[in-house]
Amino acid sequence: MFASSYNSLLVLFSLLVAILASYTALDMAGRISTAKGRAAHWWLAGGACAMGTGIWSMHFIGMLAFSLPIPLGYDPAITALSLLLAIASSAFALWLVCQESLPWTRIAWGAVLLGAGVAGMHYTGMAAMRMSPSIVYVPSLFALSVAIAMLASGAALWIAFRLRRHSPLVRPLRAAAALVMGAAIVGMHYTGMAAAQFPVGSVCGAARSGVNAGWLALVIIVVTLAVLAIALIVSVLDLRLEARTSVLAVSLAEANQELTYLALHDNLTKLPNRMLLTDRLDRALHGADRNNGRFAVMFMDLDGFKTVNDAYGHHIGDLLLVEVARRIESSVRQEDTIARVGGDEFVLLARVGEPADAATLADKVLTVIREPFQVAGRTLRVSTSIGVAMYPGDGIDQHDLLTNADAAMYHAKALGRNVYCFFETSMNANVHEQLQLVQDLRLALERNELILQYQPKLAAPSGPMLGVEALVRWAHPARGLIAPDQFIPLAEKTGLIVPIGAWVLDEACRQMRVWHDAGRRDWSVAVNLSALQFGHASLLQMVRDTLARHALEPGCLTLEVTESTAMRNADASLRILQQLSDMGVRISIDDFGTGYSSLLYLKRLPASELKIDRGFIRDLARDTEDAAIVSAIVALGETLNLNIVAEGVETAAQQEFLTRLGCDSLQGFLLGRPMSPDDLVEALSQDGMFNRAA
Ligand code: C2E
Ligand code: CA
Ligand code: CA
Repeated sequence: MFASSYNSLLVLFSLLVAILASYTALDMAGRISTAKGRAAHWWLAGGACAMGTGIWSMHFIGMLAFSLPIPLGYDPAITALSLLLAIASSAFALWLVCQESLPWTRIAWGAVLLGAGVAGMHYTGMAAMRMSPSIVYVPSLFALSVAIAMLASGAALWIAFRLRRHSPLVRPLRAAAALVMGAAIVGMHYTGMAAAQFPVGSVCGAARSGVNAGWLALVIIVVTLAVLAIALIVSVLDLRLEARTSVLAVSLAEANQELTYLALHDNLTKLPNRMLLTDRLDRALHGADRNNGRFAVMFMDLDGFKTVNDAYGHHIGDLLLVEVARRIESSVRQEDTIARVGGDEFVLLARVGEPADAATLADKVLTVIREPFQVAGRTLRVSTSIGVAMYPGDGIDQHDLLTNADAAMYHAKALGRNVYCFFETSMNANVHEQLQLVQDLRLALERNELILQYQPKLAAPSGPMLGVEALVRWAHPARGLIAPDQFIPLAEKTGLIVPIGAWVLDEACRQMRVWHDAGRRDWSVAVNLSALQFGHASLLQMVRDTLARHALEPGCLTLEVTESTAMRNADASLRILQQLSDMGVRISIDDFGTGYSSLLYLKRLPASELKIDRGFIRDLARDTEDAAIVSAIVALGETLNLNIVAEGVETAAQQEFLTRLGCDSLQGFLLGRPMSPDDLVEALSQDGMFNRAA
């Protein structure tokens, strides 16, 4: 056999090229798996070329490092075939590691195929020498070289698959893996070379190719290094680009998320809004149907919120809403949904076992809301009315459940607020009834169905009568006499209060004219104004015209506005009240004590009368706190030079007490119920001056 020898510099180069090729291949694998669509194909093709060329040139440099005592050469066609084999195996390997998953069986098959490819390339490259006689291979070493090729391939596949994902450690890991892989490829090559034995007298059939081996080696090394370097540079640049794209993609995703959040949440309280509630309700319905579950829909509306808004402005109102939202949120479970669906309206969706659980929950919410709120340095009190609809039972879909919870909520309001109410079928009838009522109310004016009753206002304790308060009633053709509490809110909601209010004023003035003509020149009449009329531009003109129409002195008309109406839009209200007062009309502040008027504001009001709210009078004898409030209001009235009226006087005890506290005038069932003009005159003639209790 010929003794062979190696050029150690070229061997070193072959190792370097093998390591670099491995690194490039691993890097490419990472690029392919993160690239999308067509780009992935290009990366695969480019990667396969770079890697194939790398492995092949390692082999070829190794061959050039090898020398025999005879001249050697390589058949170009067979050499090109070995290059093709290298590129094809590389393409296969890259494709394999870029799959979604790489189970062990696939690694094994891949290792066999790739190993066979690499070994095939090596021995094809050897065949390119066209030795005669042919090379004799030592079977054990030959087998070992193939085994090394397959094992190295398997390890390479596994490592490449693992390293695809980006991680901070990926570069050093990849470098280490490239070292291992490079060494394995080189190991395979030189084992294969060791297996080859060249009988003495062999002739290399391709020796006459005439290419200088040294130059060839240099050219191949330079070209290979260039290919690998370019591949790496392109890869790094692309990675940067991708990193930037992914940063953009992340911020885009974040912006998207933010938008979705905004679309589904209330801006002020950050609670879910109606849209998200719809979605949650949908899920709750499906969930309950699937698991035979049960849930409650609670409609909540704050009582007294408008008063706060009117008194302190929207800013404070908003802060209060945020606090209310926090409290409700903290009293329900994480998985329950509390949504804000309107100004001061909230809907709670809660999974419950029993209706009793819903009752407990509603109670809890009532309790936390009832506690005073500290907002911007003020103490505010509100309560809430809750309507509860249960699923299953109180509706089969979202719309039904919400409508029924809403109806139950109105019922709770009617019960006196700060309570919860479970839905009952009869309440639904109420809703339809209300709709019908609104329709009837539209016709009530032209059909002349409204009437006024008059309730006397007496000098304390028992007369004489100073005037009357006009109170409207609706003589409904089917339902009989309807109290204002039942239709004034409807009229306000629909705007009908404006023509109704105009009619009331006109009718009261007409009646006054009649009484004046009958000699009752000292009587005055009080007419209630609702907030909506108060905000209407034509109010002043309407009052002036009405007085003129009936030739009445403005001084015999008192307009009653509630404290909260007067406080709403305080400055604007002040202007209107001032103009009315300048006209000569007297102003009375109704339901005093229920709002939040400040002393400062009260001082500027051109009012001549304060009417203490009925609520304070009711429990006067028992409740010492109420007594304290009434005497404080009396003291206030004295300071501000206002007439103090107590309304809702029902008992002699109240009459006596209020007189002692210093009220100037009294009004109430004890002294005279609201009645028709005829009844009033009749009653007056019967007992002089309503002197019943004295
Ligand atoms: P308000 O202005 O506070 O009127 C006094 C209410 O107290 C009247 O109820 C009257 O009947 C009632 N009342 C009088 N004395 C007693 C008593 O001793 N005990 C009890 N429990 N109640 C007594 P009414 O007539 O049902 O009116 C209720 C409310 O409807 C009025 O409260 C007022 O806010 C509104 N209202 C009535 N008429 C008109 C109107 O023409 N225009 C407007 N905008 N509102 C009106
Ligand atoms: Ca009144
Ligand atoms: Ca009142």
